[in-house]
Amino acid sequence: MSKSLQAIRGMNDILPEHTPLWRYFEGTVARLLDNYGYRQIRMPIVEFTELFKRSIGEVTDIVEKEMYTFEDRNGDSLTLRPEGTAACVRAVLEHGITGGGQVQKLWYIGPMFRHERPQKGRYRQFHQIGLEVFNLDGPDIDAELIVLTWRLWGELGIRDAVKLELNSLGTSESRGRYREALVEFLSAHLDKLDEDSQRRLKTNPLRVLDTKNADTQAILVDAPKMADYLDEESRLHFEGLKARLDAVGIPYVINPKLVRGLDYYSKTVFEWVTDKLGAQGTVCAGGRYDGLVEQMGGKPTSGVGFAMGIERLVLMLETLDKIPQEISRQVDVYLCAFGEAAELAALALSERVRDQLPNLRLQINAGGGSFKSQFKKADKSGALYALILGDDELAQQVVGFKPLRGQGEQQSIAWDALAAHLATCVVQG
Ligand code: ATP
Ligand code: MG
Repeated sequence: MSKSLQAIRGMNDILPEHTPLWRYFEGTVARLLDNYGYRQIRMPIVEFTELFKRSIGEVTDIVEKEMYTFEDRNGDSLTLRPEGTAACVRAVLEHGITGGGQVQKLWYIGPMFRHERPQKGRYRQFHQIGLEVFNLDGPDIDAELIVLTWRLWGELGIRDAVKLELNSLGTSESRGRYREALVEFLSAHLDKLDEDSQRRLKTNPLRVLDTKNADTQAILVDAPKMADYLDEESRLHFEGLKARLDAVGIPYVINPKLVRGLDYYSKTVFEWVTDKLGAQGTVCAGGRYDGLVEQMGGKPTSGVGFAMGIERLVLMLETLDKIPQEISRQVDVYLCAFGEAAELAALALSERVRDQLPNLRLQINAGGGSFKSQFKKADKSGALYALILGDDELAQQVVGFKPLRGQGEQQSIAWDALAAHLATCVVQG
């Protein structure tokens, strides 16, 4: 017996019953980003492996164990992108669009791939909307990124369910000084650290702050604090960001242990977290990466960005019951026709109506069927109205117009008057 074909574990189909919610979410974000002056960029899904190694860092979870890497037919090592920033930086450098200090405010959307243990809110193919800004180095733009996500949560109705965590990692010099102090402190407690933290202490010590191990967390209570090592420039930058968030009234908590998983961050880092999704609580995360462009072979160019996980946010809308009513209805009007002559007339009539009402969601019955079966399909489609075209209506050049939800008698409408009539009773999106 042949094994039935299945999708790859952790890579999901998004079925038609779910796509309206996805499109609502994506549409809401896209409109918001347009309104704040961001422009969309589209990068390939596959890049040279080297790109991710150089940008994300060799000793990160992503590069060490999560990438989908393969050799193509030319023997090149390629990788399915695990995140968007690396490819976005590669693209702006390749096309020279950040040269000479040109400001770029960019966003992208699409699938990302990481070989993680699949569970609720964590998948191997998942989707992000990400945003990157180049050549603006002040706290004003860091604040804008946060302000616009705050507005998004407001529009989606989930503001009360998310919390903003902030930290500053300083410049690479001050982070270097802090790293030394942290390593010295942790080395004195080496035997009490969990195995993973012992390893990280050698490869990427700041990531020890990120540990989920309770014993290590207890030791960290007395560890040196990043805030005490911040250089003056980073401290002022951080103050500037906080002042702007205060001005708008956005609440936040400072989380000194927030270091983010990627190597390239500097100064501001932030996460929007929720307690509504269990362990997978971060819905949006980002920060400043002023050294990355140079590290990738460009001229010194400041950068700041974030990415949000679409699956987690869609899950949140479902969990909190924030799915707008109007997105569940896909059909406004369902047109039934009986007999071949009526079908021909119905098709021509429906095209005339579409000319006049381009936003009308009109579904025309296909596949024939009895009065009863077509009516059943009309009802099941969710349409507000059924239009009926049989021999009698054909002879008189009218259609039967029947409300399917709520009151109202069936009436006859002349073909010429149909579009005008529909315009008065269907609210068009
Ligand atoms: P986590 O700590 O949850 O692993 P991360 O720090 O690895 O997240 P980022 O690389 O910052 O995540 O990606 C930004 C956002 O993308 C996350 O906040 C999350 O919403 C989403 N995300 C990341 N990995 C996954 C995944 N495997 N499945 C679903 N969403 C994800
Ligand atoms: Mg991760």
